[in-house]
Amino acid sequence: MQKFHSLRLILGDQLNGSHSWYRQVDDGVLYLITELHQEANYVKHHIQKISAFFAAMENFASALTKAGHQVKYLTLDDSANFNNLSDLIAAVCQENGIENFEYQQPDEYRLAQQMENLSLKSVQISCCDSEHFLLPKEEIAEYIKPDKHNRMESFYRKMRVRFNLLMDSDQPRGGRWNFDGENRQKLKPADIAELPEPLLFANPVGDILKRIEAHNIATIGTATESLLWPVNRQQSLELLDFFCTYCLPNFGRFQDAMTHQTDKRWSLYHSRISFALNSKMLHPMQVVEAALKRFEEVDSPVDIAQVEGFIRQIIGWREYVRAVYWANMPGYAERNALDAKTDLPEYFWNGKTKMSCMKQAIDQSLKYAYAHHIQRLMVTGNFAMLAGIDPDQMDNWYLGIYIDAIEWVEMPNTRGMSQFADGGLIATKPYAASGSYINKMSDYCKDCHYSVKERFTENACPFNSLYWHFMTRHGDRFARNPRTAMAYRSWDKMDAEVKQSLLQRAEYCLTNIESL
Ligand SMILES: Cc1cc2nc3c(=O)[nH]c(=O)nc-3n(C[C@H](O)[C@H](O)[C@H](O)COP(=O)(O)OP(=O)(O)OC[C@H]3O[C@@H](n4cnc5c(N)ncnc54)[C@H](O)[C@@H]3O)c2cc1C
Ligand code: SF4
Repeated sequence: MQKFHSLRLILGDQLNGSHSWYRQVDDGVLYLITELHQEANYVKHHIQKISAFFAAMENFASALTKAGHQVKYLTLDDSANFNNLSDLIAAVCQENGIENFEYQQPDEYRLAQQMENLSLKSVQISCCDSEHFLLPKEEIAEYIKPDKHNRMESFYRKMRVRFNLLMDSDQPRGGRWNFDGENRQKLKPADIAELPEPLLFANPVGDILKRIEAHNIATIGTATESLLWPVNRQQSLELLDFFCTYCLPNFGRFQDAMTHQTDKRWSLYHSRISFALNSKMLHPMQVVEAALKRFEEVDSPVDIAQVEGFIRQIIGWREYVRAVYWANMPGYAERNALDAKTDLPEYFWNGKTKMSCMKQAIDQSLKYAYAHHIQRLMVTGNFAMLAGIDPDQMDNWYLGIYIDAIEWVEMPNTRGMSQFADGGLIATKPYAASGSYINKMSDYCKDCHYSVKERFTENACPFNSLYWHFMTRHGDRFARNPRTAMAYRSWDKMDAEVKQSLLQRAEYCLTNIESL
């Protein structure tokens, strides 16, 4: 039997082939990659999400083996006898006479705690960086103060300067830090015809699906033997290249647009690289450099508003939410500032609702494990906040259903940005909107059972009355907020009868939430 002195653990979201661990081949080092029941079961995941992680892990193990490293890959069958990851590591260490156990810093608090609490008899334990994020974890405190609102825009500008991205000396390229004012248009019929068909892969995952079924892992969503998501670095790079070529030229312009007219072109101009990034098959700087390269081409179709908008997502939002997460955990997971308690309606799990926007967003999520940011924030998230859904249930839903969902990024987006359950650590105002916002940014309302123009009739769009119910029930918190004060002025000017009818309609919607 081969003798190993060290065991190195690679978690499913640590598939970073450029990590310094792999620079040298050492036959005394055993790499452990394992499918885990604890990870497949801690929420009900989309079946494509589990398949994508397992397929990407298998590919990563093969790539390491090909490069000459010693790798132990355990399937659900192999790991079934262990209660959890800690027990499994202890057994592998014992079996192989391991002297050193090494792991990369996990990105989720839950796993970080599990690793910190690990104790192995006669084995030295050490932890290193995952070498993925742009902002080192130990520097987060210099950027983000715990328990306080820290502006994303200030964070983003510091990151631009620090990494010298889109800068002309100490000034932002184009004279502005942010070009959002020029972005965010609705898709007109002619624009819809121009949308690119997404690059989809056809990765065979039949064996993985059989394992998931054999181990009775409860899942949601459409299972597919031919997985469209990238599962190795090569495919991730192809997807990035596809995005830079066909989508980046219009990325910011149509970033917030939504349409149901595109069965084939469902991801619009979005990149769909979040799974490749969050599993670390892509590095954020690699993504930024690819976008900049395209922008800097002679006669590039990419203007500053598109590339700035995209880079802001990667070095701004993505790094910012991770920093807020770590600055505020573990308390962040408990926050419920708006005291929301309603149960998640059943249609979040099956799409059976008469609200066209919700049906579209949920059906698409169940089919592809994907919805773009505005579908998550302003449709499902907005509805849940207006209806006062329990943020724990929201977290579980978002964490389960999306291909890219890992707690460090899912939770600040859900509990913070979309539900305002963190009391304003992320957002300066709740992302609350009536049906008119959805109507402005989409064509969903045209085919809806409800009328977006009506406010309190039987046919009225539920978002319209729920919006006012939400604003009035949280008046103490938001009436004096300069970013929401205007809504309260409109409310004050409304006729008393109209106000009463709106609140009655909202009460009806809340009482009959399951049948909306
Ligand atoms: C309620 C809610 C839950 C969310 N949950 C997740 C999640 O679990 N995992 C996740 O990666 N993103 C999450 N997001 C953020 C965002 O919606 C997704 O990153 C994005 O939709 C992924 O699709 P894309 O790759 O096509 O993104 P694009 O629109 O093409 O954007 C490019 C990249 O920018 C990054 N990005 C953009 N916005 C954000 C953001 N707000 N936070 C972090 N990164 C961002 C992502 O890495 C994304 O891949 C959530 C947003 C909301 C409102
Ligand atoms: S009318 Fe209301 S419920 Fe229907 S699609 Fe429009 S916003 Fe959604």
